[in-house]
Amino acid sequence: VSGCFMFVFLRHVIKNIYLLFFCALPQWEEVSGYDEHMNTIRTYQVCNVFDSNQNNWVRTKYIRRRGAQRIHVEMKFSVRDCSSIPNVPGSCKETFNLYYYESDSDTATRTSPAWMENPWIKVDTIAADESFSQVDLGGRVMKINTEVRSFGPVSKNGFYLAFQDYGGCMSLIAVRVFYRKCPRIITNGALFQETLSGAESTSLVAARGVCIPNAEEVDVPIKLYCNGDGEWMVPIGRCMCKAGNEPAERSGEAALHSNCACCPSNWLEGAINCICRNGYYRTDSDPLQMPCTTVPSAPQTVISSVNETSVMLEWMPPRDSGGREDVVYNIICKSCGGGRGGCTRCGDNVQFLPRQLGLTKSRVYISDLLAHTQYTFEVQAVNGVSDQSPYSPQYASVNITTNQAAPSTVSIMHQVSRTVDSITLSWSQPDQPNGVILDYELQYYEKVLKPFKYISQTNTAVIRGLKSGSIYVFQVRARTVAGFGRYSEEYNTSIQEKLPLIIGSAAAGLVFLIALVVIIIWLFPIFQVSPGMKIYIDPFTYEDPNEAVREFAKEIDISCVKIEQVIGAGEFGEVCSGNLKLPGKREMFVAIKTLKSGYTEKQRRDFLSEASIMGQFDHPNVIHLEGVVTKSSPVMIITEFMENGSLDTFLRQNDGQFTVIQLVGMLRGIASGMKYLADMNYVHRDLAARNILVNSNLVCKVSDFGLSRFLEDDTSDPTYTSGGKIPIRWTAPEAIQYRKFTSASDVWSYGIVMWEVMSYGERPYWDMTNQDVINAIEQDYRLPPPMDCPNALHQLMLDCWQKDRNNRPKFSQIVNNLDKMIRNPNTLKAMTPLSSGVHLPLLDRSIPDFSTFSTVDEWLDAIKMGQYKENFANSDFSTFDVVSQMTME
Ligand code: AMP
Repeated sequence: VSGCFMFVFLRHVIKNIYLLFFCALPQWEEVSGYDEHMNTIRTYQVCNVFDSNQNNWVRTKYIRRRGAQRIHVEMKFSVRDCSSIPNVPGSCKETFNLYYYESDSDTATRTSPAWMENPWIKVDTIAADESFSQVDLGGRVMKINTEVRSFGPVSKNGFYLAFQDYGGCMSLIAVRVFYRKCPRIITNGALFQETLSGAESTSLVAARGVCIPNAEEVDVPIKLYCNGDGEWMVPIGRCMCKAGNEPAERSGEAALHSNCACCPSNWLEGAINCICRNGYYRTDSDPLQMPCTTVPSAPQTVISSVNETSVMLEWMPPRDSGGREDVVYNIICKSCGGGRGGCTRCGDNVQFLPRQLGLTKSRVYISDLLAHTQYTFEVQAVNGVSDQSPYSPQYASVNITTNQAAPSTVSIMHQVSRTVDSITLSWSQPDQPNGVILDYELQYYEKVLKPFKYISQTNTAVIRGLKSGSIYVFQVRARTVAGFGRYSEEYNTSIQEKLPLIIGSAAAGLVFLIALVVIIIWLFPIFQVSPGMKIYIDPFTYEDPNEAVREFAKEIDISCVKIEQVIGAGEFGEVCSGNLKLPGKREMFVAIKTLKSGYTEKQRRDFLSEASIMGQFDHPNVIHLEGVVTKSSPVMIITEFMENGSLDTFLRQNDGQFTVIQLVGMLRGIASGMKYLADMNYVHRDLAARNILVNSNLVCKVSDFGLSRFLEDDTSDPTYTSGGKIPIRWTAPEAIQYRKFTSASDVWSYGIVMWEVMSYGERPYWDMTNQDVINAIEQDYRLPPPMDCPNALHQLMLDCWQKDRNNRPKFSQIVNNLDKMIRNPNTLKAMTPLSSGVHLPLLDRSIPDFSTFSTVDEWLDAIKMGQYKENFANSDFSTFDVVSQMTME
């Protein structure tokens, strides 16, 4: 349609989409442009500022009123600043007018209603809050204004809107037309129907409420008022549930179906709301119709069958389940007759199968009891309301006495020393001796030959007369009056052959040895690592990375793991806290990283790679891996639990709470962990306070050994920049520029961690952009000392941030340095005076080097600040002495 175009309108509140046809006098033009986000938009523009007596109109299509009494109009538009147009006449305008015209039907034509004030009704003259000063019909520079106006009362079936320009330069970008209403709600036990706001913005429209089913009026009348903003206000009167009913509150959409429901059985007669009678309870999750329930009676007829030091208990369910279906059983174990006549709770080493608490079947197998001991077992029955009852659960008990039993297996055997024909072995006592150990029997044999026996009264044995060069197998078992226990696992070892070197002349031997060492070092420079030190093996060098997991991480059975709560979000899934109870070990608190379901094989491999790395480490300042769960779902990595979580958050939450010595103690721990990792040839690449975990004793441990983020290009995390994911603020320049990651680049990151610790978790380089950080470092700027940071620590940070990585200290030197500070706290007293209070900008390490310039002007030119020469001269900053004493002011 010539002169008219289609426009999209969004209705606020009632969310309908309208297609509106604008019709206009030809001075308004339909133009394509861009909004401030460079999205293409269609606008209506007019710009006849050089012609006087302008009167340009644009009109919407017919809009139905739909019962609304007050109409709101939101306009988005852009207006050009008259003063920015050269030689513009005084008639130039920066405003336009908004009008409406009511009509019972869509009767408008190109000439009617007339394009003039009467018959239209003016709503307002609209001015821009912001104008733009560059004409840019391509839309590159555009400031968009949003104005809202409303009008009413309206009474005909519908209306048109019109916009009148009278000599401005502007574009109309969007118009939104809407009305307000109060939604249908249930409140104070009554239902109120949807109600439209009144004709004036200050109007209050009264609405009557109707009591919901099973409720009755208490105060009348029941009223609410709908205000001009579509909000309910001034509640009057209310309805309440009739006796024998209670409010069934529902939330969200379902709130509109709230009602009063009948009380379930076992409720207190006569109560207005449903209250359970004495001794009866409900849980939050019980459905409303469910009766109040009570605790179960005791289990019945417990039968025991003892086998040496184990017992099987079986029982019948309680006669009365309390009206619930969630009865489970707990076993309380007490050992009695331990000499003093009383009973005491059993220790942790007694084993319960399938478990001790929350048994769903009425049977349990209990093992690892002491021999010849009297026990009492209580079988408790509990259900969902047991913890609400003031009385302890009902139980049935049974007494048993264990039999004589042989000692348990000797578990660990190791070699103490060895000569050409003898070996000295030692082992630990069996976990369960089950009596006084009389002696141990050691059996050994040359592989494939008949065994020899050797009896030892202690847990050490020296076996002589062995054949050198042969492989021997050793096994040991303990004996009590009850007989022998089972043999330990086989221990294989070869008896060394005599080295020809030792027989030959000592000098010749020495020469040979030195030659051998030189050849080895020349051939394999990697062996220059200190002797006896393990070297880290990258799990991705394994053809099958699962093999690395098997080698370095212990598989844990899921039945040993109890997840308690979610404590964080890891890269691959939730991180939870929980308990781990390994057979024969104390229960311990652990962190459990899970792999979320729907993972790909690659994600599983990447997730588990962290365990194969962590599993190679054993150091008090490196997070300890307990094991992995890979044979059931979800796949998990289980580590020791660190009560205070990650270091950055912990410091931010405890700002200013620690002494300098405590902070240095934390830094010392991190450095010690890093020294261990560096000695193993492991480069961390992401050392940062967020990747250090803190336990309840403030011990800091290095964590986060995930490799995957360095391998993929994922830009979703702003800490890591695009293109290979490098944490810019923490990373040494050579690692950023050409990926040279070494222990020396870890030392740089360690310096940043020092800064994070001393500033209690401040963000390194504050809100500078990554690119600004890279440029600043390149120009020799370094982070200034945090507030109250001792000079000695800041100096150590600066050492870590040496441009040449060979000049940075090694982790061993950092540990020694920090140890010295801890021993002599006086060295931590000196502070940089400027650091207290003011936030310094980045420290320019080139400032002290004025020596290469002969005048201040020359120096200003060199640092591209030549335009300030005059200012410096005028303020008498004419010598380097004065310049170097310049303050922030
Ligand atoms: P990560 O995937 O290692 O970054 O772990 C995510 C979050 O889980 C960390 O920021 C910690 O808050 C928490 N978390 C991870 N491991 C442990 C742990 N061993 N002990 C306590 N909290 C942990």
